[in-house]
Amino acid sequence: MTNTIEITKAQTSKIHEVDFENLSFGKVFTDHMFICDFKNGEWQQPEITPYAPLTLDPSARVFHYGQAVFEGMKAFKDDANKVWLFRPEDNLLRINKSAERLAMPEFPKDVFMEGLKALINLDEAWVKPGFGNSLYIRPFVIATEPAIAASPALEYKFLIICSPAQSYYSGDVRVLIAEQFSRSANGGVGFAKAAGNYAAQFYPTSLANQEGFQQIIWTDADTHEFLEEAGTMNVFFRINDTLVTAPTNERILDGITRKSIIQIAQDSGIAVEVRPIKVSELIEASKSGALKEIFGSGTAAVVSPISAFSYKGDVFEIPKDVKSFSSIFKEKLLNIQYNKSEDPYGWRQ
Ligand code: PMP
Repeated sequence: MTNTIEITKAQTSKIHEVDFENLSFGKVFTDHMFICDFKNGEWQQPEITPYAPLTLDPSARVFHYGQAVFEGMKAFKDDANKVWLFRPEDNLLRINKSAERLAMPEFPKDVFMEGLKALINLDEAWVKPGFGNSLYIRPFVIATEPAIAASPALEYKFLIICSPAQSYYSGDVRVLIAEQFSRSANGGVGFAKAAGNYAAQFYPTSLANQEGFQQIIWTDADTHEFLEEAGTMNVFFRINDTLVTAPTNERILDGITRKSIIQIAQDSGIAVEVRPIKVSELIEASKSGALKEIFGSGTAAVVSPISAFSYKGDVFEIPKDVKSFSSIFKEKLLNIQYNKSEDPYGWRQ
């Protein structure tokens, strides 16, 4: 495989048709996409082409067995109009980990980084400056081989598409703690960003929505006693002045925002405990007043404060703390992402 990316530019840009003040998340895409095929046992010529629909055979395995993995990452523009990525190599490592679990081939890091940078360079005008504005980047891999045998495909497509995003305000997030449904199980694919993990959450989440809860906090499948993560976020609990989050394992996604927050908290002198946390501990902490905050962490919103949780029909409200840890972490992370502060970790690139 040659590393030189073949670039075909779009003849006209769609950018003038886009209302950047009123973007719905993930509905508008930039002018170009990155695409690379896998066949005959290797990745072929990587290309950047005008953004366009794909033509796939109806027997492509992705349609039948969900052999698909993806990533979510962002690019930010600073006040000098320079575009920055946040820990992009971690996303590549994670998509390859996900791919391995789904019996899909690894994608080479150098081609990913070169393709990503070339794509963002071409569509640079779509990254708007200003806190909160960003370009959401979606790398993904699908099994394209036209054959419906229930076995790993021999052909794949790796793509990167990009969508301009505005500041994400999730509103008042109330969560339901899972008692019956499970997101993942030991030995399963919970740690992977496998497409099917998300499809399987839609139904329980829609039931939770009907009851007035925006998200589910998943618990372990065996006992439903331990708190794990939310739909597309890891979760943190502040008990008095200690930050507690579940250890990542084969059921939980190793979130890049999560590990960045743990690092920032430790370096800010905040006590962090990465340990299993029980629903019963959360309820006791809520009753005694020790529970100060719950928040989710993820690329989309950075942090998303949770205002209440429900378990077995009881609803527990969480008091609003003006000096919340979550707002401190959000500010520190945004400052690094938008090049408004030093980046002692080398996360911005
Ligand atoms: N958990 C799940 C299930 C997710 O889909 C995501 C989003 N990628 C996260 C956690 C947060 O991960 P990150 O901070 O890397 O976006």
